[in-house]
Amino acid sequence: MSDLLKRIAKISGPKGLITGADVRQRPADWMGQTQCNALAIVRPASTQELSQIMKICHALGQPVVAAGGLTGLVQGTSASADEIVISFERMAGIESIDPVGRTITVQTGAPMQKVQEAAEKQGLMFAVDLGARGSATIGGNIATNAGGNQVIRYGMMREHVLGVEVVLADGTVVSSMNTLLKNNTGYDLKQLFIGSEGTLGLVTRAVLRLAPRPKSDNTAMVAVSDFAALTDLFRHVSDNLGGSLTSFEVMWKEHYELVAVESGRHTPPLDAGEAFYVIIEVTGNDADIDTELFTRVLEQAIEAELISDAAIASSRSQRDAIWNIREDIEALGMALMPAAIFDISLPIRKMEVYVDRLRSSVHEAWGDEARLIIFGHLGDGNLHVVVSARPWSDEARQQAEKMVYEPLADIGGAVSAEHGIGLEKRDYLHLSRSKEEMALMRSLKTTLDPKSILNPGKIFAA
Ligand SMILES: Cc1cc2nc3c(=O)[nH]c(=O)nc-3n(C[C@H](O)[C@H](O)[C@H](O)COP(=O)(O)OP(=O)(O)OC[C@H]3O[C@@H](n4cnc5c(N)ncnc54)[C@H](O)[C@@H]3O)c2cc1C
Repeated sequence: MSDLLKRIAKISGPKGLITGADVRQRPADWMGQTQCNALAIVRPASTQELSQIMKICHALGQPVVAAGGLTGLVQGTSASADEIVISFERMAGIESIDPVGRTITVQTGAPMQKVQEAAEKQGLMFAVDLGARGSATIGGNIATNAGGNQVIRYGMMREHVLGVEVVLADGTVVSSMNTLLKNNTGYDLKQLFIGSEGTLGLVTRAVLRLAPRPKSDNTAMVAVSDFAALTDLFRHVSDNLGGSLTSFEVMWKEHYELVAVESGRHTPPLDAGEAFYVIIEVTGNDADIDTELFTRVLEQAIEAELISDAAIASSRSQRDAIWNIREDIEALGMALMPAAIFDISLPIRKMEVYVDRLRSSVHEAWGDEARLIIFGHLGDGNLHVVVSARPWSDEARQQAEKMVYEPLADIGGAVSAEHGIGLEKRDYLHLSRSKEEMALMRSLKTTLDPKSILNPGKIFAA
């Protein structure tokens, strides 16, 4: 064992350090398809331990890569053989809940679902929710400014973080565990770390906002025959559901057909053949009134011919069956991999033309063998795009990246809506950010991490 690792072992103890062949036993991604090749995995048990470890790493210029649940999809946790992975799995506790102030204080290795369940026990809700909830950690959610299925109503992670504790590159602990909703005392330092993908600091603890837990929910899957009807439907439900719209998730035809029908893994709630399938969900406080309003608003949409078919969930299992189609990433993986997966933002009104052009580019390049799958949080202007080209190669991936990213610059889109930049989108960041913005980002990085030891090479080239 090297001197560096011996010094770390003295601080972390045997439970806190994984080395040699044991590192290779660990996965490097959430599906377990690649192995971890890092120099070591360090698993601190407290902020103080991590601070001491970072003092050593800083003195020696040792690069480290923070890792949560490994569900990020942009190679943000990818670590080379000379880098140390900092895993937060031994810092996964719920420290306290304040049901009156509606806050929860957690260690950042806590999985999202654990936080959601702790809030539920107090009749409250942690309102950020996404498909990888069982594995994704609060630290990863903060570092990626995660979005998810309820952004349209509750906002992204940034809106739910009140305070953070961070270990800086040199081991300094900045404890900014604010619990107040209003606190305008100088710079809002936590914002530096939210969405910074482990490149500016290691987030060890957080104070999160909780919301009142809704007492009712109503969910439907509806079919829509064209894009104009889709945008009219979005306006109709947004305007008429009295602020209770929580999700407006759209699957383009090809997505619904593949997952709901072809995969054989679901009972399709609606016949295939329409252009779009939408999950509409509302939450509220009075089951009778909410259900009546929801049904009325959908009936109006049917009368106005915005909806051509609808399935309204009348039980928890029917609701889950609808969401299981949207969240069945495994079905997509089995049918489409290898493929390039994208997470982009663009103005809703530009989506139809953008997607038509993309479809033409994909089919021009690879013919009918290629598959283009589109789905996402349309209400947030956020689409997930999968390009499955055949034959697959690195060149095909790069070609797909150019097709997806380059047109975004002219229409005010963003190359990442919620997954971040990591390694995967680094070469395309300039399409969404000006030279001046990039220069300011670099200068923040240099100020906070002058030796570039925190997740080097992610977001920017090292
Ligand atoms: C099935 C599935 C569905 C998904 N759906 C959504 C969705 O709807 N919305 C969405 O936004 N994302 C979604 N994601 C992506 C992913 O779940 C989120 O990005 C999540 O926030 C990552 O959390 P994690 O703990 O897995 O982070 P990781 O993947 O482990 O890490 C992500 C980044 O955060 C950094 N990091 C991790 N922990 C810390 C820490 N404590 N301090 C500093 N940096 C840290 C890492 O270095 C890395 O750069 C989905 C992923 C999957 C697999």
